[in-house]
Amino acid sequence: MTGKPFEPAANVSLQSRNTLRLPAEAAWYARAGDVTELRRALDWADRQDLPVLLLGGGSNLVLAGDFPGLVLRVSLGGRCWSGVDNGSAILEVGAGENWHETVMYSVRSGYRGLENLALIPGTVGAAPIQNIGAYGVELSHALVDVSVWDREQGAERVLTCEECAFGYRDSLFKRQPERYVVLKVRLRLSKRAPLRLGYRDLEEFFDGQAIDALTAEDVAQAVIQVRSRKLPDPDFLPNAGSFFKNPVVSLAQFESLQQRFPDIVAYVGQDSAKLAAGWLIDQCGWKGHRDAHVGVHNRQALVLVHHGDGQGGELLGLASRIRDDVQARYSVALEVEPRIFPVSMREEFRF
Ligand SMILES: Cc1cc2nc3c(=O)[nH]c(=O)nc-3n(C[C@H](O)[C@H](O)[C@H](O)COP(=O)(O)OP(=O)(O)OC[C@H]3O[C@@H](n4cnc5c(N)ncnc54)[C@H](O)[C@@H]3O)c2cc1C
Repeated sequence: MTGKPFEPAANVSLQSRNTLRLPAEAAWYARAGDVTELRRALDWADRQDLPVLLLGGGSNLVLAGDFPGLVLRVSLGGRCWSGVDNGSAILEVGAGENWHETVMYSVRSGYRGLENLALIPGTVGAAPIQNIGAYGVELSHALVDVSVWDREQGAERVLTCEECAFGYRDSLFKRQPERYVVLKVRLRLSKRAPLRLGYRDLEEFFDGQAIDALTAEDVAQAVIQVRSRKLPDPDFLPNAGSFFKNPVVSLAQFESLQQRFPDIVAYVGQDSAKLAAGWLIDQCGWKGHRDAHVGVHNRQALVLVHHGDGQGGELLGLASRIRDDVQARYSVALEVEPRIFPVSMREEFRF
């Protein structure tokens, strides 16, 4: 590849680049605004055998130490419509675009499909990694395909929604974390699709209102209001959203738990039940708990917060105590949702 030499910045602080505002340094840091810049950066790291951390908005990361390789901010931009046909259309969006702005752009254009996912922080490129979801909707419901740079094959590829193997906060990308760089996504949206208002918070919000008259933008605004009431804004109280996934258990295990704990909160499906991790943590008495620099949010037990001057290790220490408590009381294993760096810290705290 020709062109100007790749010159990443050395020893760059990541504290303002992660929503937990944890202190950490990247040995090397660069931005990639297009595929050529991306390939140049990846080639540079490969030649020196350096690990690469792909960075979006840093809202799903726990940085518990310095990163010894190249932190690469994926900044590919652009949004465009195609396949406009009979009330439906495809929205193509670059990985570096802001997710929430993309949702608002789609609903203001009159399209439905993304409104329940308003106000989720971060970039479009990170959205497929954990198949972001909220208020009964997941990214996979609207996703057509994902264009990626496949580092193993050294080629650009398009992965269909099916090939992405999405699950609850899970995907192919989570299972092979170093392999794919998301370049852009294509989403199928519709002007006439039914609005999804079945989630309790939204039902309550629109109680008594004429549902037929609602627009996707009304729903997005409702989601924004509900979320703003419930979740701390990372700009004021640093956090990474839900720290643990809601554990999925068999129906038999759920029934046995329900006998012992009749108030247990769960979303019961046909073959399994998803327990509300926030309820389990709350029942163990952790809501509002504070260590010196880190704690558990006082309105949402699922959200761990950084009060300032703390380290990632302190947060992981608190998280491991919560996990052990829930395990001891309910025999349910909690799994951490954000990605932890460095790997040695993940292992030290058994996450
Ligand atoms: C207040 C708050 C509320 C939240 N609410 C929700 C919610 O309701 N639902 C939900 O699902 N999540 C939620 N999250 C988590 C988070 O916002 C999402 O996971 C989001 O998609 C992360 O985007 P990001 O750009 O910040 O990713 P980052 O944190 O920068 O990265 C996350 C992971 O994706 C990888 N990655 C980033 N960009 C790329 C790319 N282009 N190609 C390949 N890999 C990449 C990173 O290496 C990392 O492993 C919340 C977080 C916060 C702070």
